[in-house]
Amino acid sequence: MVHNPLPETDLTRHRRLREQGSLDRGELDAILDAGFVCHLGVVVEGRPVVVPTVYGRDEESLYVHGSVASRSLAAGAPVCVTVTHVDGLVLARSVFEHGVNYRSAMIHGVPRKVTDPEEKTEGLRRLTEHATPGQWDYARRPSRRELAATTLLALSLEEASVKIRTGAPGDGDGPDAALGLWAGTLPLTTVWGAPEPDPLLPPELVPPAHIARREGTRHG
Ligand SMILES: Cc1cc2nc3c(=O)[nH]c(=O)nc-3n(C[C@H](O)[C@H](O)[C@H](O)COP(=O)(O)OP(=O)(O)OC[C@H]3O[C@@H](n4cnc5c(N)ncnc54)[C@H](O)[C@@H]3O)c2cc1C
Repeated sequence: MVHNPLPETDLTRHRRLREQGSLDRGELDAILDAGFVCHLGVVVEGRPVVVPTVYGRDEESLYVHGSVASRSLAAGAPVCVTVTHVDGLVLARSVFEHGVNYRSAMIHGVPRKVTDPEEKTEGLRRLTEHATPGQWDYARRPSRRELAATTLLALSLEEASVKIRTGAPGDGDGPDAALGLWAGTLPLTTVWGAPEPDPLLPPELVPPAHIARREGTRHG
């Protein structure tokens, strides 16, 4: 893992629960690579909207895509993107100390619309490969008409932050320890299931290796 610090800015400076915060580029990359759905927060016609959407990335940028008709994919205005992995519940003696073990990333910036056809195709390749490695070479690639119907935004990874919580509840050595209540963590994992064929598939078509081998592996 590369441990380059991300620049601390007014936006990325952690103010609350600072001990869980980090500006480590390697940790950012690890969180982005462990998921493929982000939440894109953007102001549309004066109102905030938060849109769940898939993403991909390269060293410099996070890519999100969608229909050219999507109002949340207007470039040129500030956005905030988060990626969250929930690793478990933190069950303390007191309700006040309850929490979540997690890894999360927040990226601030003004996205750029990718218009160069080569760059757009490469961004869409990264997005496809991020969720399903091997699928870009397997599936039919976008036609010119499909490319024209798709907006691709690139958001710089320059202004980003990370927050991670691990471990036990924080009230084990406080007065509530005397309550005699069970406390601890309840880990949460997400595991890929068996591929389910489209009922319209001819029976001789089996899932390709890059899909079949994910069964039983952990996501996140
Ligand atoms: C699954 C999950 C559940 C959570 N539940 C709660 C809850 O119930 N109550 C609660 O108070 N907090 C919760 N948090 C933490 C929450 O995300 C915020 O970090 C925290 O509330 C501080 O918010 P703030 O606006 O005061 O942050 P500030 O410290 O003012 O934020 C300043 C900057 O720090 C960075 N930052 C802040 N939070 C995060 C983050 N989560 N990930 C990456 N960068 C971040 C951003 O760049 C942000 O602009 C949860 C986090 C996760 C991932």
